[in-house]
Amino acid sequence: MPIAQPPAPTAPVTSHLPKIALVGRPNVGKSTLFNRLIRANRAITHDRPGVTRDRMEGQVRSRGKRTFAIVDTGGITLDAHAAVAEGPEGIRGFEAEILRQAEAAMAEAAGICLVVDGRDGLTPFDEHLAAHLRRAGKPVLVVVNKVDGVEREDEMLAEFHALGFPLLPVSAAHGHNVRALADEMRDMLPGGPDEPDGPDEPEEGDEAGEAGDADDFGPAQDGDGAEDEGAESGAPAAETKGPAYDPTHLRLAMLGRPNAGKSSLVNALSGQQRMIVSDVAGTTRDSVDVSFESGDRTITFVDTAGVRRRSRITDSVERFSVNASLKSTTKAHVTLLVLDALQGVTQQDKRLVDLLDERKTPFMVLVNKIDLVPRKLMPDLEASFKGMLEFCPHVPLLYVSAKSGKGLGPVLPMAERIRAECHVRVGTGQLNRAMEEVLTRHQPPVVRRVRPKFFYLTQAETNPPTFVFFVNDADRIQTPYARYVEKALRRMFRIEHAPMRVRFRSSHKKKGE
Ligand code: GDP
Ligand code: GDP
Repeated sequence: MPIAQPPAPTAPVTSHLPKIALVGRPNVGKSTLFNRLIRANRAITHDRPGVTRDRMEGQVRSRGKRTFAIVDTGGITLDAHAAVAEGPEGIRGFEAEILRQAEAAMAEAAGICLVVDGRDGLTPFDEHLAAHLRRAGKPVLVVVNKVDGVEREDEMLAEFHALGFPLLPVSAAHGHNVRALADEMRDMLPGGPDEPDGPDEPEEGDEAGEAGDADDFGPAQDGDGAEDEGAESGAPAAETKGPAYDPTHLRLAMLGRPNAGKSSLVNALSGQQRMIVSDVAGTTRDSVDVSFESGDRTITFVDTAGVRRRSRITDSVERFSVNASLKSTTKAHVTLLVLDALQGVTQQDKRLVDLLDERKTPFMVLVNKIDLVPRKLMPDLEASFKGMLEFCPHVPLLYVSAKSGKGLGPVLPMAERIRAECHVRVGTGQLNRAMEEVLTRHQPPVVRRVRPKFFYLTQAETNPPTFVFFVNDADRIQTPYARYVEKALRRMFRIEHAPMRVRFRSSHKKKGE
């Protein structure tokens, strides 16, 4: 089947909206604030300093008001900052990368919110950042967070006046002043708060989360907003495996152990340096949706990190939680299982493949980092990965390199193809002919002295396509014949890579048909 061309140059979904960047040192509450503003709890907050996020974008919408984008840059930290100097090896390079990303966000933002922690008071680092921002020459608002009760408000604000920017006290955790903050942000936009929206209001499923359109930033007094991580907060659920098939929006999940190269692949496939890639295992630990446009389609990588570190940052090995990552596969149309070519096939990979196959998850395997594999070792490598798919040979196996770009061209077209195949519906005439062909090529073997009789074939479901043969005695169909039937149907119906079910059901009534 001919498949689509390689992805066209890409642009983020929020690219048509003016942006406000949230910057600040780690742990001041940017992520909590971001979630409040976009009214979804996709980002996850942490209690430890130095635990930073990938850059995230989301939309702030309120009925009757101008829609704009916010960018959460993760924590900005310099090497001098003690909290991160204690991190594991490699963290410095990681922090430098965040700083670069933050600068990029600031460069494209219309205005900047410097988020500070009212309880910590003014730190030298806040001053350093403020000086940095002053040079950027853009409107700046200092957002004093964690002002949870009004009694101490003035006291908490006092020292931040020294920064010389307008101040707004908020409590991200309680929602206090968050609406006022959104209004202040609108004031910073070019053209002011009332400039009409662009013509093309994006649909559901945008970037970091779908904001509801109510003029309200969530329950204002719900106690600890930071506790409800993972909750959907009333925002519309992500598009899931439903009957609706919207070919313009493809949701993909990345699955695989830390350091396999998932984030690098998201970067390479989306053509952007959005995710932070680091040699420290598990540095991409938050669940982030990353969207980009490719031709006339929107592609979203859901819960991009997929795997989240729960324990201390100093842990040397991150536990790979299969359960947590399998959850992301249910939010996606197609799952990309990323394996590290240098690690070979592990028991865990095998189990994962079997699990995905059993669950009828539409998936493909990307063997990454092939730039590191000497050419003469490739045949052995290919044989072992192929062996891993012994029981699900329909699963595509692609050898890629996020680093060199090798093999990446077919990845997105293949994902689309798998998804399209999940929705194949076969007409009655074709089903009848298919059954005839299946039976004439190979009769079902005699079992316990009787040859099973086939009455008819129907397609019970799509996604995955499910075919049911009505036969006189289903117990007489043995596995090898069932395998042959599945293979034949796959070939005839061109369902070559999607999961599929073939069932045999006893039906005595239909005898004689
Ligand atoms: P970030 O590193 O700047 O993104 O900070 P996070 O959003 O991850 O928040 C860091 C910590 O501060 C988390 O434990 C939050 O629960 C907490 N936090 C965030 N906002 C508030 C607030 O308004 N009040 C209080 N008391 N804690 C908050
Ligand atoms: P994740 O934890 O699965 O998201 O993995 P990352 O994308 O953070 O990558 C982990 C490490 O592998 C980083 O040091 C990357 O630079 C490196 N890496 C990723 N893809 C490739 C690749 O195709 N070739 C090589 N040589 N290194 C890669």
